[in-house]
Order: sequence, then structure tokens, then C-alpha cells
Amino acid sequence: MSAPDPSTSRRSFLARTAAVAAVPSVAALTEGALAEPAAAAETTLPDYAPVPKSALGPALNEQGYYVGQVERNLYWVTDGTYQAAFLATRDGVVLFDAPPTIGHNLQRAIDQVTAENGVSNKVTHLVYSHHHADHLGASSLFGKSVTRIGHAENKRLLLRDNDPTRPAPDITFEDHYALRVGGQRIRLAWHGTNHSPDNIYIHLPDHDTLMLVDVALPGWVPIYNLNLSEDIPGFMAASTTALSYPWKHFIAGHLGRLGNREDVTLHQQYVTDIAAQVRTALATVDPTPYFVKYGANTWAAVKTYLDAVTDRAAAPVIAKYTGVLAAADVFTVSSTLVVLESIRLDLGDGSQIHP
Ligand SMILES: [Zn+2]
Repeated sequence: MSAPDPSTSRRSFLARTAAVAAVPSVAALTEGALAEPAAAAETTLPDYAPVPKSALGPALNEQGYYVGQVERNLYWVTDGTYQAAFLATRDGVVLFDAPPTIGHNLQRAIDQVTAENGVSNKVTHLVYSHHHADHLGASSLFGKSVTRIGHAENKRLLLRDNDPTRPAPDITFEDHYALRVGGQRIRLAWHGTNHSPDNIYIHLPDHDTLMLVDVALPGWVPIYNLNLSEDIPGFMAASTTALSYPWKHFIAGHLGRLGNREDVTLHQQYVTDIAAQVRTALATVDPTPYFVKYGANTWAAVKTYLDAVTDRAAAPVIAKYTGVLAAADVFTVSSTLVVLESIRLDLGDGSQIHP
């Protein structure tokens, strides 16, 4: 497993950076106009634990992507940060998600694989995992004639957001949808809200594969707030639901490699450990000094107390998972705070009725 070519990594990083309006333009960066502030930042930016080798995937090619076989005619594509997948059937290609960072490389990857296998390179179906732009923003590249499929809530959200890069799905479903293309079985299911209200399970029973995006990220901890999830109890239940399906290969939508059952189990253990440490910290950190010190400034007391609980809970989790899951020292505090709030607000633990 070799590291990605640095020039390719930098190019794809710049492509991603260019998508963020608030950052300096690529031209400004490449012209060196910001060389001085960048050098200053280098001396003040924090250092983090090294990324374990087990978190990294295969090297990217010159165009900045890697395409690999999952099983038989199912393939996955990555740019090192995002992932999509596609099924190359005798009747056309079924694409699963269209992240804008992979963008035109999706069709390049499809062209490469279908040419090698002598099948059509035409994308006929595009399955949406969920409505977020970072996973669907290249959907419009596939034109109007492709059949888009997503959850009913996915359609409602996409119509609301009205983003021309993400046309709303043509086919929607509530609980289950069986898609068959070129003799291949694809089973779509919705088991409740988790990361987003419309996030679905994409099961390919004849390819031993489950695709569930933005929940368990192989080799890595979730980013902020457990992947910016809208429903924390739903998010925590999602990995259990994922493991209730039969599969060997896991497509997570993120980072540079495929997942397996051990990855999802490890993710589940990480989140379970956070919740356990939050309960311990809630029972042991005394709120009194925070409220005494800040008096009438209730929010200052609430913030410093909850931050203390969060830090107390996160510390042993960071220690346990550093070197095991990449970026445990980067994002665990953020995710611990959201678990703490979910335990208080969703589960009602620690709520007391005034006597
Ligand atoms: Zn998302």
C-alpha cells in the first residue's frame, strides 16, 4: 500500500479547497501571494498524532482518483477523501452517489472499467445515498435521461434546497425498493433517520456489499459532531443495523479505502466508549464551582461545566484510539460534546424535576 503521489494529493486538495468560498482563490495560493501568512500558520498550527498506515488506501492515479473492483462487476472510486461506487451491467451502469470532488473522474473511472470489460459505459441509473451536496454535487453531469433514485425525504429535501447540481430523484420509496438492472439485484432500504433524515442502506446481496454513507468511516473517526449527524441516537443505531445485514465489503462514502465488518465494529465500539465515558464524567464532575464562579452569567457556567465534562470523557477515548483510528485526537472532543448533549436531551439522563 503506497502513499498517494504528493502532487496529485495537492492538486485534489486545491480542487476541494476551491469549492469553499471563504478561502483564498487557488490562483492566489499558487502564485505564492499568501506565502508569508502560510509560513506563519505553519509555526502555529497544532501537531496531531500520525495517521496509522491501516487508515490509508491505494495510491491515486495522475487524474487524482483510484478505481478498484469490490466484487465481480461492482467497483468503487475514491479521490482519497470521498467515495462513490458503480455496477457495470450488460444494460448500462448504475452509479451510487456523485461526489463533486470526484466530479468528471467518475465517468473517467467508468470508461476505464467498462472498456476493459466490453460493456456499456452509459450511466442509466443514479442511486442517491442521501441529499448532502458533498456526495451528490456531480449528479447533474449525468444529464436528464438518467433515472435517479432516492428516499421520499431525499426528494423533499432536494426540492427544498433547489440546487441545480442535484436534480431530485425520479423514483422514490418509503421503506424498501428493489432495483434490478442488467440482471443485478440492488436492495435499497430506509431504517429511520441517522446522519440525515434520508440516509439509506444500499445492499448488493450478490456482491456481498453494503453501502452506508457518513456513518462508520473505515480507519478514521467521524468528523465534527459524529459526522455532523442530525439524529445522534439514530446514528448510534445505524452501525448495529448495518451489521445486521450479510456482507463482506463496506462502502462508507469517505476516505481512501474500502471497509469490512471489523471497521464497522470498531466504529461502534468507539461511539459506545464515548457514551460510557460521558456517563462517568456526568456522574463525577461537580458543577458547583462553575456556577459559583460565574454567578449571574448562566451561559458561562453552563459552557465551562459542559466543556469540563466533555474533556474528562474524551481524554480516555483519545488515549485508547490514538494509533488505532486516524484523527482520534482531532475530532473526539467535538463528537463527545454531541453525545453528551444527546444523553441529556434525547435520553433525558440527568434531568431533574424541581421539587
Ligand atoms: Zn452527509
